[in-house]
Amino acid sequence: MKLSIHGCRGSTATSSPSTQRYGGNTTCFEISTENHQIIFDAGSGFQNVKFSDQHESFLLLSHFHHDHIQGLPFNPELFDPKNEIIISSGLCDIELVKQTIQKYFSPPYFPIDVVSLLSNIKFLPFNAVREKLDKDISLESVLLKHPGGSTGYKLIEKNSSFVYLCDNEFADDQRKSLANFSKNADLLIWDGMFTEKELADKKGWGHSSIEQAIDFNSIANCKKMIITHHAPYRSDKELDQIAVELPELFTLARDGLEIKV
Ligand SMILES: [Zn+2]
Ligand SMILES: [Zn+2]
Repeated sequence: MKLSIHGCRGSTATSSPSTQRYGGNTTCFEISTENHQIIFDAGSGFQNVKFSDQHESFLLLSHFHHDHIQGLPFNPELFDPKNEIIISSGLCDIELVKQTIQKYFSPPYFPIDVVSLLSNIKFLPFNAVREKLDKDISLESVLLKHPGGSTGYKLIEKNSSFVYLCDNEFADDQRKSLANFSKNADLLIWDGMFTEKELADKKGWGHSSIEQAIDFNSIANCKKMIITHHAPYRSDKELDQIAVELPELFTLARDGLEIKV
């Protein structure tokens, strides 16, 4: 599998000169497997996803906060009818997924009704997506702690595993279950929007800290962890300072970063 990061900024996109190196686009992670293109969330980074000519494209939404869906109609390739995309989520019933996306991208919030207009946007229940994937791929979901709910995903192809945990407010009662879900993953994506110091004033906001990633991995034992959902005010300079203090297997997400899983 290959991971491409198209958006790693949390909550709102930023275009400040001080955030350009890590990038200002909101959440969008793309995994290419042998026969599929699987996109996790469609934040503003989704506008830079290149549709695969050969592979079926899936978009798995963690939840509906605007920073995870706002990029959907801004990918110009979506207006080419041959580029079909199958949207799904482990969070709720597929009718609710469709209704929510349609409402967000319709007047008065958006100029056109995107879902009615583009018949190449399809919606499929999560279990049907799991069945559609190659036989050597397993896809699981886990409910995360976030206002309104959020879904984490685990994708395993052959012997490689990718775990996506965004957005999540890490809590003690998740320690065991989430560590079991993530155990020994080759690559895990962690919501590290805040530092431990900032988190003290942000209880209930639905996000975790960078330091909690290190603590979590002492039990989950993942081979590599990528910290994402950077606070919109976090400058490149601050992120560089954080990066040098992290243990070797931790990387800070950056728009444009590609990693083999
Ligand atoms: Zn978010
Ligand atoms: Zn959220």
